Amino acid sequence: MNFNSYRWCVASSCTNNSIKTPEKLFMKVPDDIEMRNVWLELANRDPKSLSTKSRLYLCEDHFDLEQDMANYMEYKIMGSVKHVKMKENTTPSRFSFHTEEKCIVSPSTSQTALTNTQSLDFVQGSILFNLLV
Ligand SMILES: [Zn+2]
Repeated sequence: MNFNSYRWCVASSCTNNSIKTPEKLFMKVPDDIEMRNVWLELANRDPKSLSTKSRLYLCEDHFDLEQDMANYMEYKIMGSVKHVKMKENTTPSRFSFHTEEKCIVSPSTSQTALTNTQSLDFVQGSILFNLLV
């Protein structure tokens, strides 16, 4: 096994790595400290807890490859690329813990909205009734 090429996804909710999911692309977290912090915060990781010297990666699951990858067409046509090139200022956008939050919030929100609509209908109905009388 070549340990030099071992890559693992730094996202807190993700367990992908180059051994378990070798077919996945791993994007290197930028060296630029500001971008690095942005990526790590999005991945729900504390940038301070990770050495700035260590190479960190996020797997393709957290990107919209077609949008974010500069040589996506090459990858698509050739099936692989030597180096994944990400577009400038690209940030990862897909994390399951964001989706989970939305799932918890939405049922109660829609219920409240429904109740509001019903009471509004009732008010409008009684106004209309009063006008008719
Ligand atoms: Zn991942």
